[in-house]
This record gives sequence, structure tokens and C-alpha cells, in this order.
Amino acid sequence: MRRIPSARDMQSQALEWRASGKRIAFVPTMGYLHEGHLRLVDEAKRRADIVVMSIYVNPTQFGPLEDFEKYPRDLERDAAMAEARGVDCLFIPDSADIYPPGHQTFVTVEDLSRGLCGVFRPGHFRGVATVVAALFLIVQPHVAVFGEKDYQQLKVIQRMALDLHMPVEVVGLPTVREATGLAMSSRNAYLSEAEKLEALKLGRAILLAQDLARGGEKRVAVIAEKGRDLLAEGGDLRIQYAEIVDAETLASLEVLDKPARLILAVYINKKRLIDNGPL
Ligand code: AMP
Repeated sequence: MRRIPSARDMQSQALEWRASGKRIAFVPTMGYLHEGHLRLVDEAKRRADIVVMSIYVNPTQFGPLEDFEKYPRDLERDAAMAEARGVDCLFIPDSADIYPPGHQTFVTVEDLSRGLCGVFRPGHFRGVATVVAALFLIVQPHVAVFGEKDYQQLKVIQRMALDLHMPVEVVGLPTVREATGLAMSSRNAYLSEAEKLEALKLGRAILLAQDLARGGEKRVAVIAEKGRDLLAEGGDLRIQYAEIVDAETLASLEVLDKPARLILAVYINKKRLIDNGPL
């Protein structure tokens, strides 16, 4: 597995692969890899000749009071995991390379960025869209693989690629969970065993909502309230939001008459967790 730290070297290598007819699949990450990231790699391998993974903790998507400084990082562990899973090239840029001196160009995906996490993390999706646009131009992928774990992010990136005529297919894969139902996340490293148990309520609330929907309940308010009640049991978890939205536009829904998504963000002690599932 090659490691490329420079954006310029990464881009010339990508252009060479393209010129020789190779298909490139791209898996962007912030590192501290887990099985969820590695499933994206498996899919990338099925879809292309060369798999590039980036590991870059992007400062512009973190708010001033968020966890940028303490986000878990372990490059040697990540490199071993990526290589074992068949990643061909690890792109590990630093911020001076991604954001050239004097940088002032940002990408904003308007409506999709406004609700849900956009309310509580102002500027987050602007940072995400900006870095992914830059990474796409550097890595030149034919296909990029993202997780539904970050569902709003996936929709923002798909919209950006469409609106800006980027020649890349943006694929979303279902959330990978622990056997317990806990959605895998690099940030689970912040959780104690007791907090992990509390976090199981997220997956249970999604299953409950899915059961109600399958049973014929169409009233979004009823399903959302039962989900919130489950989350609130015991009082150890604070709901930031629990919303059922149109799976494509992320607009609020009153009736389940089209593909929908339950999207959750909660705090357990000071630790923020997100999860979502289809309805
Ligand atoms: P991150 O390193 O957290 O920025 O995530 C990098 C990519 O992995 C994003 O596309 C995420 O949606 C995806 N991802 C993170 N956790 C999971 C998971 N549990 N299942 C599937 N994909 C995931």
C-alpha cells in the first residue's frame, strides 16, 4: 500500500491511473478506523481497480467548542487495517496542503445543510462539502463510497456532486453495527461501558419506529413520540433532536407516504452521538 502525503503527488498519481484506463474508487475518512469504514473499502474494491482511502481530520467541519483537538488519531493502526483490507493508496494530507495559504473558497449546499445537525453544528456541512470537493479534485475518483451512518452528510455530498457536475458516482452503504446494535463510530472510543449500554437506546428507538411503520402506523408524530419516550426512559440521555424526514429532501413529514428516515442526535453526558434508520 502506498502512502501519499502531498496533494500534488496524489493528484498526479490519480491522473496517471486515469490515463492508463484504471477506475478509481475513493473512501474519505477521518481515521481511527473500524469495521464500518472497512465495509466501505470492500464495496470500493468491487467497483474499481484502485482504492484510495484518505485519512484527514478536517478542521473546517468542527465548531470552536467541538472535539477537533481530541478526535482519536492513530495513523499506524489505521494504515495496518487499511492495508490488510486491500486499500491500494492511503492519502494523508495535512491542512496546509488541503487549504493553501489565503484559502477562501467554500462550497455550500443550501437547503440540505439547514436542518437536523445543521441547526446545532453551524458551518459543519459547509466544511464537509468544501473538503470533499477538494478531495474529489485531488483524488479524481470515478466512484466515492460513504456511509449512511452520516445520512445528512451523504445527501449533502450527493447533491453537491450533482449540482456541480462532478464526474463521480456517490454511493451510500448501510450503517454497520456492533452485535449489540450500537452503530460503529470512531467517537465510540469516548464512551465508557455504562455509556455504551445507554447508547443502545438509539438502535432500539430506530427498531421501534420501524416496527410501528411496518405495523401500518402512518402518523409521524405518533412514531416520533414513541421513539422519544424510549430514548427518555431513565433520564440518562439528552435528546438533541429526533426527527422523521423525507429520505431524499430531509424535509419534515407529517404522514409516512414516501421513503422516510428517522434521524437522531443525543448527548450521553458530554458525548454527542448520532444514528438513523429507514422507515
Ligand atoms: P468518519 O471517519 O467518521 O468521517 O467516516 C468516514 C466514512 O465512514 C463516512 O462516509 C461515514 O459515514 C462512514 N461510516 C462511519 N461509521 C460507519 C458505520 N458504522 N457504518 C457505515 N459507514 C460508516
